[in-house]
This record gives sequence, C-alpha cells and structure tokens, in this order.
Amino acid sequence: MSAITLDHVVKSWGPMRAVDDVSLTAEEGSLLVLLGPSGCGKSTTLRLIAGLEQPDHGTIAIGGADVTHLSPAQRKIAMVFQSYALFPHLSVAENIVFGLRVRRIPRAERDARLKRVAEIVGLSHLLERKPAQLSGGQRQRVALGRAIIAEARVCLMDEPLSNLDAKLRHEMRTEIRALQQRLGMTMVYVTHDQTEAMTMADRVVL
Ligand code: ADP
Ligand code: MG
Repeated sequence: MSAITLDHVVKSWGPMRAVDDVSLTAEEGSLLVLLGPSGCGKSTTLRLIAGLEQPDHGTIAIGGADVTHLSPAQRKIAMVFQSYALFPHLSVAENIVFGLRVRRIPRAERDARLKRVAEIVGLSHLLERKPAQLSGGQRQRVALGRAIIAEARVCLMDEPLSNLDAKLRHEMRTEIRALQQRLGMTMVYVTHDQTEAMTMADRVVL
C-alpha cells in the first residue's frame, strides 16, 4: 500500500510555476526516476511528495490515501538529500539510529536494526567514526542507512550521487537499486543524469 500518485499538482514561487500541473503515479514497490535539467522543478516535486512544501492546487496520495494536508512525519517517508545532511558531531552509528532515538524505539530493537542496516550498506566496520573521517561514498551510505533503518514504505532521493566520482556513482546506483528491490520500497529518484535514469528506473518521467 505505497503507490504514490500526484494528481494535477501545481506549485508556484511568485509568478513562476515550478511545478505545472503534474500528474503521475509511482507503482508500489517500483523505482520511478524524475529526469530533467537543473531548474525544471524536480526537487520541488520531491519536496511536495515529502510534505516539505504545500501544493497550490492538486492532490498527493500514498497507498490510496490523500496525504496532501498531512505533515512530513505523518507521511512516514524516508528522504535522502544530495548534501547528506549528517550530524558532524555524531558517530556513524548515532547518525543512522537518530530517527529511532527520536521516536523512542527501545535500545535492544535499535541495536538489532542498526546491525542489520550497517551490514546492508557495508558500514559495519566504521560505526564509531565521525562523518569527517569518511569518504564521500561512505557518507552517502550513512545517509542511505539512516533512510532505510526507518523501514519507511516510501523513499525519496534527490540527486544522492552527484557528489561522488564516476566509479563510486556506478557502484552506488547498483546498490541502491538492489536495496530498493530487496526491501520492496516505492522509490522516487531525482537525477539530471540520463544514464543513471536508464539503468535504475522501472519508469522514467521526463
Ligand atoms: P530542480 O530540482 O529540477 O533543479 P527546483 O525544483 O529546485 O528544480 O526548482 C524549480 C524552480 O523553482 C527554479 O527556478 C527554482 O529557482 C525555483 N525555486 C525552488 N525552490 C524555491 C523557493 N523556495 N523559493 C523560490 N523559488 C524556488
Ligand atoms: Mg534539485
């Protein structure tokens, strides 16, 4: 129950229509890529799905339920930004479990989920490090781990690989796609990279 549907969604900034009457569906358990040049409204579309912005017109539904007026927390969505947004003073482990702490998940469950997720994203041996002691790719995996430990049915990614070099970008594409399929997440993935779109997506929205 995690298909995402936008129905005639409009969002303007002053006189400029950043999102102009967009309707689309990401099927449950699929990976939908939003592909387009810089400034075409990809991030705004993603922020609307997340609930970080409110549309001027139109509706957004997740799993058949209208979430247009729900807060981001109520939508139970995980999101990965281009900038990673890690806490520099917290360790890898603390960064990954941060959201579970806020939700007061008991320690034993937190630890068990951390162990599992750290293995999935390949960070088991780096859990005590601080973000400054990691490479770009490792930081990206922390952000990814933080998103998937939430076990959200929906995951949104905004150009998550654009800070990485070509080789790592290639590896991470494969990892993200495999993870999305293994966990059965519905994912909306934003990129301006055609190759990335074509290799990862079930469906590309231009
Ligand atoms: P993309 O992610 O495809 O590069 P964005 O969704 O970030 O595009 O932006 C679409 C348009 O909306 C751009 O012209 C951008 O300048 C404008 N925009 C985005 N966010 C804001 C904002 N908070 N206030 C004003 N204009 C914005
Ligand atoms: Mg953007």
